[in-house]
Amino acid sequence: DTVMGLRACGGETEAALAAAEDEIYRLDEALSRTREDSAVSRLNSAAGGTPADVGEELRDLIARALDFSAATDGAFDITLAPVSSAWGFTEDTYRVPEDAELALLLPCVGAEHVHLEEGTAVSLDQGTRIDLGAIAKGYASDRMAAIYQEHGITHGIVDLGGNTWVCGGNLEGEPWQIGIQDPARSAGALAGILEASDAFAVTSGGYQRYFEENGQTSHHIIDPRTGYPAENGLISVTIISADGTLADALSTSLFIMGPEEASSFWKKHRDTFDAIMMKDDGTVMVTAGLADHCSVTTGGNVEVIQE
Ligand code: AMP
Ligand code: MG
Repeated sequence: DTVMGLRACGGETEAALAAAEDEIYRLDEALSRTREDSAVSRLNSAAGGTPADVGEELRDLIARALDFSAATDGAFDITLAPVSSAWGFTEDTYRVPEDAELALLLPCVGAEHVHLEEGTAVSLDQGTRIDLGAIAKGYASDRMAAIYQEHGITHGIVDLGGNTWVCGGNLEGEPWQIGIQDPARSAGALAGILEASDAFAVTSGGYQRYFEENGQTSHHIIDPRTGYPAENGLISVTIISADGTLADALSTSLFIMGPEEASSFWKKHRDTFDAIMMKDDGTVMVTAGLADHCSVTTGGNVEVIQE
């Protein structure tokens, strides 16, 4: 369902774009949970049985996902798949599940139910399912960067829908300008502009995917502690990093943590990323490293998070 846009300049542009497109389809085939023949689906079907050989790439990505779960104290959790399905986010059959239904699913949720086995095998406990939706596009953007580099691309933009990678600077030799969506307004209306070169910028927000039932709005980013959509004071989180997979994992995680926990997480890990976080009261929080590279146009208070 995602519109993607790839632009390249300098180097072997045609070959780079063709290879990039092929790679996106290859990754979709491998990592999508809704494709029955994907490696992820085969692993999910084998849950509770013998370990499945998922190949080196998927095993490494699952291993990284488990590391993010540990680093974020469980906020990031690929085993929420059955819970996302209960809310209808996987099959577009939106509904608010009963508390009792979620209570039955939560015992199978948690990184401890995923086991890295020998070689390139992985096993899941009975009832556990994984979904790499919060990390796959970030990983794909890392692959795009590698392909651009192999083809000598000097300037470019890869937009995978909420996951952007900017290659080099723009053709005037300035940093690229990346627009940050205003969660409160229609698609394309900006809350701010970020300047960056050779960086990944990934946004997670409740406004990206949601439904309404009986006047209640429910979005797709689930708090693993409750099984309910995370409502912890943030409406959008953008992560800027030199690592696309990390940026994707952390945009989802910090959204769940809420402003205070997310700020202290950044203080601990500030060497690896920067962040722009929008609070539900209109305040925009920006980490110190970004303060001079981003402008906020919503008129809300801007708070710089200092080291
Ligand atoms: P993102 O847009 O990168 O924030 O990823 C959101 C997607 O990740 C959702 O549509 C779900 O498929 C999945 N997801 C939801 N909650 C979590 C979570 N707490 N940890 C990991 N993945 C999640
Ligand atoms: Mg993410």
